[in-house]
Amino acid sequence: MIIFRFLKCSLVFVFVLGSCVNTKNKTYPESLTTKFPYQYLSLHTRMDEIKSTDWLARHSEQGQTFEEYLQENPTLPTHKRNKIYLLPLGNLTQFDSQLVQITAEYLSVFFQSEIKTQIPLQNLKDTIPKNAQRIHHHQNQLHTKFILSHILEPHLPTDSWAYIALTPEDLYPALSWGFVFGEATLHNRVAVSSFHRHKKYVGNDVKNELSASEKTQKTRLRTLKTTTHEIGHILSMRHCTEFNCLMNGSNNQKEADSRPFFMCPVCVQKLNYGLKTNLKTRYEGLLIFFKKYHFKAEAKFCKKVLKSFKKGQT
Ligand SMILES: [Zn+2]
Ligand SMILES: [Zn+2]
Repeated sequence: MIIFRFLKCSLVFVFVLGSCVNTKNKTYPESLTTKFPYQYLSLHTRMDEIKSTDWLARHSEQGQTFEEYLQENPTLPTHKRNKIYLLPLGNLTQFDSQLVQITAEYLSVFFQSEIKTQIPLQNLKDTIPKNAQRIHHHQNQLHTKFILSHILEPHLPTDSWAYIALTPEDLYPALSWGFVFGEATLHNRVAVSSFHRHKKYVGNDVKNELSASEKTQKTRLRTLKTTTHEIGHILSMRHCTEFNCLMNGSNNQKEADSRPFFMCPVCVQKLNYGLKTNLKTRYEGLLIFFKKYHFKAEAKFCKKVLKSFKKGQT
């Protein structure tokens, strides 16, 4: 069924019942306390109360435990499929090109995987047929299914475990949807991520009157989050419904902005299983990345995680 094949993220936890351990007024199931130090777990919070405009208020999703993940026979890197391929899709400005380069650098650190950035595919009007585009509220949009099925899947590199298009174009997954930040397949190794809306500043952003450098940082962080989220789906990870987590679905930019850049302990188990990596190495790399690009709050979180390992087991 198509619903199980694709996961849309207009940019979106099942609590495992059983014996629990309470630490610092936060309760965690034994399945987590036996694997992670308390200090690390305490850096993660349960999902906030669902608001009427949130993804989970509009989409009925049950989450995915680590055991359920294993039962789904997840799509994982192999000895031969050991790279992420990034295809820039559309005409890029200098800002966009830099964003693609930074995103590629981030992906290699986050997933601890070699990454290859391809030559941008431009002149999309010649590539994408009229019936796979539309004008919606005066905005040209590209159909995600066409990108996934006709641009990416036929050209999937044999040594790729993930092939993702990154585009400045706006996207839609179906006529009934207003837009979508990205879309991924759970088992076909392809995804598309758009930063079109991440460059827009509305609502709270306007009230805060962001400086030019703050806008740049915000656009970058949003793009890093959407793109890593979509690649999480490529690893057959479904939306997280338990913790505040990178793998939460999001219905709008405000909700997406409220989601963290990191995965929760349940999703991290899936990530480490699939990539055969560990948290310490990832967070050491992320700390260097965030310092380099001046993401202060994110670097601070990485330091807290690394400190938590020193206190407890790894
Ligand atoms: Zn998603
Ligand atoms: Zn999660």
